[in-house]
Amino acid sequence: MITRYLEKINFVPRVAEKVSGSIPRTYLTTEEKQIILRMHDSCFYCNANALSYYMDHVVPFNFIYQTEIFNIVPACINCNSKKSDRLPTQEIFDRVKDRNNKLRLRNDYTKDWYQKLYESCLTFYQGNRLPFSPSPYRSLSLICLIFNRVTSWFLAPRSQKRVRAALLRI
Ligand SMILES: [Zn+2]
Repeated sequence: MITRYLEKINFVPRVAEKVSGSIPRTYLTTEEKQIILRMHDSCFYCNANALSYYMDHVVPFNFIYQTEIFNIVPACINCNSKKSDRLPTQEIFDRVKDRNNKLRLRNDYTKDWYQKLYESCLTFYQGNRLPFSPSPYRSLSLICLIFNRVTSWFLAPRSQKRVRAALLRI
């Protein structure tokens, strides 16, 4: 299948099928999922620990229309929804390529080919959307969330009093 990609002009995979809309979504096998989860014990993007992980397509599925183990990393719910249908930054993509060195992949997979696929996706699919990287302000937003919870807890009795007073007035 990879050689088929290579045959396509400009590395845009499965053009004909995309146009006709006849590509069903494919999934990793249970064994492949276990391989991924054994290799990573946290979110590939932000390192957060989660109870379960999404099997994220690094190069978006809607561009490559394949689910291949070399293109899958575990992602927490935050990263998965934030990344959505985008490429990650080149820096993250380099980490994926390094990770793939540890996977036993078919002979027709090469780092260069995968990099070309990334670049092609960036040119023909990503548009002007910025590549994804996990927010460096994650801890800051967590502090804000805690602050909001604490202040609303302190304000709660007063607002309850207001509700009670309004009820008495009726
Ligand atoms: Zn994450």
